[in-house]
Amino acid sequence: MAHYKDERTLVIIKPDAIQRTLIGEIIGRYERIGLKLVTMKMFVPTAEMIEQHYTLDPQWRRVTGEKTIKGYMDKGLKPPSTDPLEITRILLEKLKEYMTAGPVIAMIWQGAHAVKIVRKLTGGTEPLTSDVGTIRGDYVLDSYQMSDSDGRAIRNLVHASGSVKEAEDEIKHWFTKKEIIDHKLISEQITYDIEFGC
Ligand code: GDP
Ligand code: MG
Repeated sequence: MAHYKDERTLVIIKPDAIQRTLIGEIIGRYERIGLKLVTMKMFVPTAEMIEQHYTLDPQWRRVTGEKTIKGYMDKGLKPPSTDPLEITRILLEKLKEYMTAGPVIAMIWQGAHAVKIVRKLTGGTEPLTSDVGTIRGDYVLDSYQMSDSDGRAIRNLVHASGSVKEAEDEIKHWFTKKEIIDHKLISEQITYDIEFGC
């Protein structure tokens, strides 16, 4: 069985973060907690790769559609459609426009509980309610209401895998095995060494 320290997650720095010159700030946050960067690349994604990325989980269209409809209802608002699949069809079109608007940086971070730790540092999906101290809470002020009324995807700076399974699928989607660099950091001796302090 793989050790906790071998868990990996995928992060994509989205086009708005690159335009806002936040690359260093974002990478710094994942780096300083003790995670290890095992690969990264900068490129302009195709709409096809983005659509595949969001639909790697066959349930994504239904689940995200239902979640979005519930979000409207909870705020006392009328959703643009009551059909979850129609909601995600619209969402996907906007996501494709947003994510192909310029270069992105895709990265893989490795370390104990990498998926949950990265999500914690990244913050909740909607910047309006993301916790202070998180990337989405500290560097951006968008909301679903504003992005919906302006007919665009919410700008939340980064994508981070939501579960270990999602991370595995997304890593395979964006990287080949050869691109991932299995290397050691000196700092890992302090983070994980079972002899330390004994
Ligand atoms: P993430 O993992 O935090 O990025 O969130 P999800 O995987 O749930 O959703 C993926 C993307 O779909 C988000 O980054 C948003 O662009 C969009 N999205 C998700 N939920 C909603 C919603 O309730 N309203 C709107 N307008 N967009 C949403
Ligand atoms: Mg997600």
